[in-house]
Parts: sequence; C-alpha cells; structure tokens
Amino acid sequence: MVDRKCAGCGKIKNREELIKITREKASGNIVINHSNKIFGRSAYICYNNSCVETAFKKNKIAKVLKASIPEDLKGRLLNEF
Ligand SMILES: [Zn+2]
Repeated sequence: MVDRKCAGCGKIKNREELIKITREKASGNIVINHSNKIFGRSAYICYNNSCVETAFKKNKIAKVLKASIPEDLKGRLLNEF
C-alpha cells in the first residue's frame, strides 16, 4: 500500500484528494500524474496553497522523490487548483 501522505501538511488522505507527483521511472522526468499510468516514485500534495508552499519551503517533494525538482513545478502545481 502506497503511503498517500501530503508532503505539505503530512496528513494521510484518499488518492482523489491529493495531487500526485511522479518521477517517471523510465525518463526521470518529474510529472503531475493524473492518470496513475505513469510509474515511478511518487509524492502527494493537497489541493491548496499552504501545502504547496510548505512542501517547497521544506524541500519535501525533492526528498520524497529523491530527485531535484524542476523550477516550474511549483507553478504547475498551483495551476492545478
Ligand atoms: Zn496537505
């Protein structure tokens, strides 16, 4: 069972309540994963500003994904809601 825990507030939630960010196994690209058809190490985050801000401030997504995060990811996440 995958731990679906927000990288910002740390709450465990249902998959539908979280944005999934995946480091694609094949390419190493970091993508917002809407379909669950992209496989790789994943981080989750709530659909709200404060969780996105907290996760970036604490560098949490990079830690979960064990990868450096592209500069535009934050903007892409904020466009999700
Ligand atoms: Zn959260």
